[in-house]
Amino acid sequence: MNRVYSVGEPMELQENISLAPLTTFQIGGPARFFVEAKSAAEVEGAVRLAQTQALPLFVLGGGSNLVVADEGWPGLVLKVAIVGIDQDSRDWNGKAIFHAGAGESWDRFISKAVAADCAGVECLSGIPGSVGGTPVQNVGAYGQEVSETIESVEVFDLKEKQVHELSNEACGFSYRSSIFNASERGRFIILRVNYALTPGGDPHLAYNDLKHHFEGRESSPDLAEVREAVRHIRARKGMLIVEGDPDCRSAGSFFKNPVLGEEQHLALQKRAAEKKLAIPSYPGLEKNHKVSAGWLVEHSGFSRGYALGRAGISSKHALAIVNRGGATANEVIALKDQVQQRVDEIWGVRLETEPVFVGSSDQGPVVSGQ
Ligand SMILES: Cc1cc2nc3c(=O)[nH]c(=O)nc-3n(C[C@H](O)[C@H](O)[C@H](O)COP(=O)(O)OP(=O)(O)OC[C@H]3O[C@@H](n4cnc5c(N)ncnc54)[C@H](O)[C@@H]3O)c2cc1C
Repeated sequence: MNRVYSVGEPMELQENISLAPLTTFQIGGPARFFVEAKSAAEVEGAVRLAQTQALPLFVLGGGSNLVVADEGWPGLVLKVAIVGIDQDSRDWNGKAIFHAGAGESWDRFISKAVAADCAGVECLSGIPGSVGGTPVQNVGAYGQEVSETIESVEVFDLKEKQVHELSNEACGFSYRSSIFNASERGRFIILRVNYALTPGGDPHLAYNDLKHHFEGRESSPDLAEVREAVRHIRARKGMLIVEGDPDCRSAGSFFKNPVLGEEQHLALQKRAAEKKLAIPSYPGLEKNHKVSAGWLVEHSGFSRGYALGRAGISSKHALAIVNRGGATANEVIALKDQVQQRVDEIWGVRLETEPVFVGSSDQGPVVSGQ
């Protein structure tokens, strides 16, 4: 790696750093400049540098929800590497508060919470990425979402140039959304997340996959068993990062489950009935007419393992676009376009993408006030 000059020791500004190895998709060109910040002060230093040099800023976590353009990022990539997981010794109305650095591995945080016998995040085991990435799209799986346990989020506010603590309500959480990827996109750098978990709480067993896993058992599973079950189910679906498994060279689910209005839902049911099909419904999905995007993709002619050049659909999960080896961002985008177009033609539903597109077509978050 090329060392250019230092931005206030021990932070190192590097130049022309390939972003592909820093993403789970393993796709994308270089960052013109790259810096890793291990503290709030270092984050501020990097922001100052971006502003003085008029560089567009992109904030990188674990790189598990990104499609980085083949051209890379023309400005500064700031990787938030603030670590530390501390359990508050005080009791907060029966909840245990955990303070976790944004740069911590999310799954390591869950393993610590489960080891401390605290419930609330066990179903989110095995989701790749950083703690700081979880509030951004209100990460969720198997009936849990982080919005249910986030107490507050400590951020550096690029607009007001200071550190704030945002309450859960202020984060504006909804399905795969928050102010961080919607109304205030690009304004906040997440430094630390505070989670309120339930000491001695029961694991959440709402989804059929999980219930089936424990079928025939007399005693209820504990948090650690549910965590292991979730990781096991995810591995089967290519939704766990497993060395050597090409199906996890992805950004996870590529499309969100569409939430339809009453009329559109009825129209979809009518199209399904004409094809002698029934739209499947799962707990948590039927609420607000949320429809399975995976089902729509599979019933639009895209079977698991479908390939378009070096991009493809996972052989284990219809919702994941994978890098079959050496794929470019443009190849992924071509497949995405094909899926969206075909689902729209056949079902009259426009699928929305879940990952963040970085560079070229989407310049992503930039430092405010430039
Ligand atoms: C195999 C696989 C399975 C997955 N399964 C799920 C799943 O079940 N449920 C689910 O919800 N997601 C899932 N994902 C998607 C992804 O893991 C999550 O969205 C994750 O939280 C992204 O975190 P990250 O640290 O990798 O963020 P990145 O991918 O690095 O960044 C994503 C976005 O968050 C922003 N960001 C990251 N860190 C910060 C920060 N500190 N401050 C401000 N902005 C920041 C980035 O700028 C970018 O806009 C999966 C991904 C993969 C590859």
